[in-house]
Amino acid sequence: MRLILLGPPGSGKGTQAAVLSRRWGAPHVSTGEIFREAIRSDSELGSKVRRYTETGELVPDEIVNEIVFDRLARRDCQEKGFLLDGFPRTVAQARALDGWLADRGDGIDRVVDFEIGDEELIRRLSGRRHCEKCGRDYNIVFRPPRNAGLCDVCSGRLVARKDDSPESIRRRLEVTTETLNPLRDYYHAKGLVFAIDATGDVQEITEVLLAELGCAK
Ligand code: AMP
Repeated sequence: MRLILLGPPGSGKGTQAAVLSRRWGAPHVSTGEIFREAIRSDSELGSKVRRYTETGELVPDEIVNEIVFDRLARRDCQEKGFLLDGFPRTVAQARALDGWLADRGDGIDRVVDFEIGDEELIRRLSGRRHCEKCGRDYNIVFRPPRNAGLCDVCSGRLVARKDDSPESIRRRLEVTTETLNPLRDYYHAKGLVFAIDATGDVQEITEVLLAELGCAK
């Protein structure tokens, strides 16, 4: 299954991608996570992308495309497919992805569109925290840790992502508004889109996705 999870930041696509990836064994490829890891490890890529990610601007297509295509060329993606989360973000990236896949005789199978309003997104993004030690995700509103500020698994400190600051959230939602609709249109025209109401419960959404994508067990 070569799947794209489309939707604004905070719509839950990363959470669902992680669950589906565990069920199917297909890699979860998150460009945001690749960039955050590069920044954490102070790599050359990290220094190139930091200024974009921290302010909520898009990383230039040449950088993103190269990173994604290197990842998709690896054996696990070639054998098992992939769940793309956070890519493509623009029609130019979608076209580049289609071209790259077509050169290998492949294509995207489905696109899941996570639909959710801005108010709910702001509520979710402002509550997001992750463990600075093991990376596990929490939300102080919906999925709080047992002990405030500490990870349930490793007792690491819970922190907010730098780009979940109010200014950056606002900018990311503006950028999303500009880019998401053309991308939706692009995939609708190809008949690949399955839209889901992303305001519901995490487990219910997983069940709907598994039923729709034909891999319920
Ligand atoms: P995310 O975790 O998907 O919200 O991504 C965090 C940040 O990484 C975004 O705000 C962008 O700065 C950058 N980013 C992630 N994916 C892309 C992409 N496909 N194109 C451009 N920038 C991206």
